[in-house]
Amino acid sequence: MMESLHRSRAAWGIALAGALLAACGDGAPSDLDQRLAQYATVDLTTDTTALTRRDRVMISLLIGAAAQMDTLFWHQVYGDYPTLLADIKNPDLRRYVAINYGPWDRLRGDEPFLTGAGTKPAGANFYPRDMTKEEFETFVAAHPDQAAAFKSLYTLIRRRPDGTLYARPYREVYAERLLLAAAALRTAADLAEDEELHRYLYARADALRSDNFGESDRAWLDMKDNTIDIVIGPIETYEDQLFGYKAAYEAFVLVKDRAWSRRLARYAALLPSLQRGLPVAAAYRREMPGTEGDLNAYDVLYYAGDANAGSKTIAINLPNDEQIQLEMGTRRLQLKNAVRAKFETIMVPLAGLLIAEDQRPHVTFDAFFANTMFHEVAHGLGIKHTITGRGTVREALKAHASAIEEGKADILGLYMVARLFEQGVITEGDVRDNYVTFLASIFRSVRFGASSAHGKANMVRFHVFQELGAFSRDSVTGTYRVNVDRIPEAIRALSEQLLVLQGDGDYEGAGKLLAEKGVIGSELQADLDRLAAAGIPVDVVFRQGEGWMPRTVSVTTGR
Ligand code: ZN
Repeated sequence: MMESLHRSRAAWGIALAGALLAACGDGAPSDLDQRLAQYATVDLTTDTTALTRRDRVMISLLIGAAAQMDTLFWHQVYGDYPTLLADIKNPDLRRYVAINYGPWDRLRGDEPFLTGAGTKPAGANFYPRDMTKEEFETFVAAHPDQAAAFKSLYTLIRRRPDGTLYARPYREVYAERLLLAAAALRTAADLAEDEELHRYLYARADALRSDNFGESDRAWLDMKDNTIDIVIGPIETYEDQLFGYKAAYEAFVLVKDRAWSRRLARYAALLPSLQRGLPVAAAYRREMPGTEGDLNAYDVLYYAGDANAGSKTIAINLPNDEQIQLEMGTRRLQLKNAVRAKFETIMVPLAGLLIAEDQRPHVTFDAFFANTMFHEVAHGLGIKHTITGRGTVREALKAHASAIEEGKADILGLYMVARLFEQGVITEGDVRDNYVTFLASIFRSVRFGASSAHGKANMVRFHVFQELGAFSRDSVTGTYRVNVDRIPEAIRALSEQLLVLQGDGDYEGAGKLLAEKGVIGSELQADLDRLAAAGIPVDVVFRQGEGWMPRTVSVTTGR
């Protein structure tokens, strides 16, 4: 019953290795080159001149702790990954397996890409591979005393030799690696000059070893002045597609961007006056937005585990614990260098194909980053409770709530930028940069289709803007041009439409809008296909940790 990361070898792992050896080729898909080309490789760095020697040692310790999360995540997704990687002789194939943390393609709905890999288990390696949902539910119904342990975020489900299921806590299964990670966090804590960071790192070290995260989450929310930060532990549950119960290990090692963080605080303070100026009848702007939201900009120095698998996150909003959220709110972190990586490798070449040539200089990183930040701040504008007695907007709009809320944040983010330029609060740059970059962002977001809340919101905006003449398409060059004069009216009209849907709690109206306009037309689809044909990457992988870590070989990058 002992399970060790290095020695255990699941039966299906042996079967897979056998299939690999038996495959006539090296088991690689014929389009491996194209699959690899979907990911642009970028270095994760930050301006280190402001860091002290002590900071640098701390960062290397935190990266060491984060690297342990990488190993644990591999185990949660796959099991015996050292054997998997060692058996793959083709370095490109090994690299693609490492990017995906397993032989299933995360950009293609987890379709297997390695000969013999078989279908990815919906429950990853959190549950026995042969366990069905029904078996789990039947067991829990028959053993109510064990329900909490079985549904816990922090247990694996395993089978005894006699076939019965049992739950085993992460703190036991992963004890050795968690001990190492906790030791690195404590050593880093002892170097921390910031009191709150010191307290958080100690609390987090304890949490990793006890599977009890509440106190460390609270300590993390209390941190205000620290430059160095780390998010670490079992956090999100997306990897468990069977039930969504089990949390996957991940880590981000972070350095705060103080200049951008100060700017954000300044803009958040202006929310009440922006709310009063919203282009909608007074009843729909009667709530007073809070200005205390904790929103800061960071550079990431290291992504590990879940955070580093497939498509990369550029924003964090934690903790997930709803009780703590109610008591203390959340912290929102925008990951500036990761946003820049996506901008340079994806947005710039995309604009080169789809934006009118003379407007391409208006696609800038500053505008892209500002637009993503204002989106976050703009979630605070508008209305949370319907004015029609239908409860909260979220309750009233049900399944449509996310798409309408994301669409609102996008358009009101642009509204904020435009107003702050008008009022002379933003003095650098050119509002046209924000407009043209905003249009180019729509193309980036809908490349993955319009099925997600964000995808639908982007398409609604695309159609409304097109109808109002906010941009036009040149059929000869196949490029799009922003009609700057028409943008203010487009912002006004779309903002009003979405705010009224929310304020009225108009479920039918929201559904109608999304069904009619939340779809990709054939002309746009053909333009998006040109991006794929031109080999423009869809995401990034990071070269990271080097220069900080004592060793240069990283399992994550497969090098
Ligand atoms: Zn949002």
